[in-house]
Amino acid sequence: MSTRLYIRIVPIFLLTVALGTASAQTQIVAPPNKYKVSDDVKLGKEAEAQALKELPLLNDPAVDEYINGIGQRLVAAIPPEFQHPEFRYTFRVVNQKELNTFALPGGPMFLNRGMIEAAHNEGEVAGVMAHEMSHVMLRHGTAQQTRATPYEIGAVAGQILGAIVGGTAGSIIAQGSNLGISTYFMKFSREYETQADINGAHVMARAGYDPRHMAEMFRTIEAQGGSSGPQFLSDHPNPGNRYQYITKEAQMMAVNGDTAGNNGEFGRAQARLKGMSPALTAQQIQQQNQRRTPVGTTGRAVNVDPPSGSFRTYQPTNALRVSVPSNWAPVESAGTSITYAPQGAYFQGDNGGSAFTHGIEVGVAQGTGNLQNDTNSLLRNFAQSNAQLQQSGKARNDNVGGRNGITVQLANVSEVTGQPEYISLSTTELRDGSLLYVIGVAPRTEAGTYDNTFKKVRQNIQISDR
Ligand SMILES: [Zn+2]
Repeated sequence: MSTRLYIRIVPIFLLTVALGTASAQTQIVAPPNKYKVSDDVKLGKEAEAQALKELPLLNDPAVDEYINGIGQRLVAAIPPEFQHPEFRYTFRVVNQKELNTFALPGGPMFLNRGMIEAAHNEGEVAGVMAHEMSHVMLRHGTAQQTRATPYEIGAVAGQILGAIVGGTAGSIIAQGSNLGISTYFMKFSREYETQADINGAHVMARAGYDPRHMAEMFRTIEAQGGSSGPQFLSDHPNPGNRYQYITKEAQMMAVNGDTAGNNGEFGRAQARLKGMSPALTAQQIQQQNQRRTPVGTTGRAVNVDPPSGSFRTYQPTNALRVSVPSNWAPVESAGTSITYAPQGAYFQGDNGGSAFTHGIEVGVAQGTGNLQNDTNSLLRNFAQSNAQLQQSGKARNDNVGGRNGITVQLANVSEVTGQPEYISLSTTELRDGSLLYVIGVAPRTEAGTYDNTFKKVRQNIQISDR
């Protein structure tokens, strides 16, 4: 039995009587966190190195300096109780069109160029930055891991890096839709969102910005709609009444001076961006990253022993037991998945990518509770990041861990060997509506041998989610 850890936020209606005084602002208490502050720094650094490999930076000194100036003004306004001397806030502009921004534990922030282009004034840019920085100073990334679900696998470092590289590999694994990096925090809870909004409002006000610009920036992002806005909004869901409570909070704080920021400088930065060639889309960035083959040159020879007839059982989380041939071992656990492979079948690339030529991956993906639809979404995700992936057989009902499941056979080309590859994907629903998936990978020429093994693995998975 676990206790739910809610953040205590004093209801706003109790405070409206004190309107107009700085002391009336809502009190924020950082959520419980079992990690050390130094863990945030370490995880953030690892994730930052990944991000720098995946993301094209704008590298324009004038724009960088302008954004850094806003960032430092906000840093100077961090409430004393949330100042962690170990944290180092840095601000980088990514040459990406979509309206997205993320900040990593310990301080590194990546702000998409699209955000600056879409904002109506400096206050809006500062608003989204103050919101992101609030997740960092309140340590929401590690706090979220503190209350992790039973399906989350592996150490926190693995989870965060896994989320960044977009799931593990096989040739078909990229759980996130476009860039894995955007799934970094997966999704913040509504409580954390409210907290980042309110704390962000405090930081804004202390820095001399009107916090209402933050609320306006959320409107600006929503108005973009289409394929651009939603990623940010799905990572940072509106807890409801976002505009109203930010506005109320703003009214409780006295803001002096230049409340929308330096709009001369803002205008010059926007004009500069306008003069450049257009920002890259997430899809273009993903294609560039894929051209840098994650595992090295294809055409590698792979020599792997056949699957042993005896099985060994692993328990990657409290909720799962997985039996695999005894000559296989866990080779990678990342995010919500774990891969088992025989010796010689697993490859890691320089830029954090990895692939396996023989073995299975077991993982949990977000779902809606509809097995058919969720399986189709998962397939679409895989196909997006694997141009050669094709369904080779009809989806059929199957036994997965003693439950109703679906198995689909797929054909692919191995990014390690360059040879045809056989893939079997099986899915079943978990009680909370998530999707459990089991992916078997083997060379096409060995499909017969391995298919039997994959079947045993998926049938014998034990799930304790009820
Ligand atoms: Zn947020």
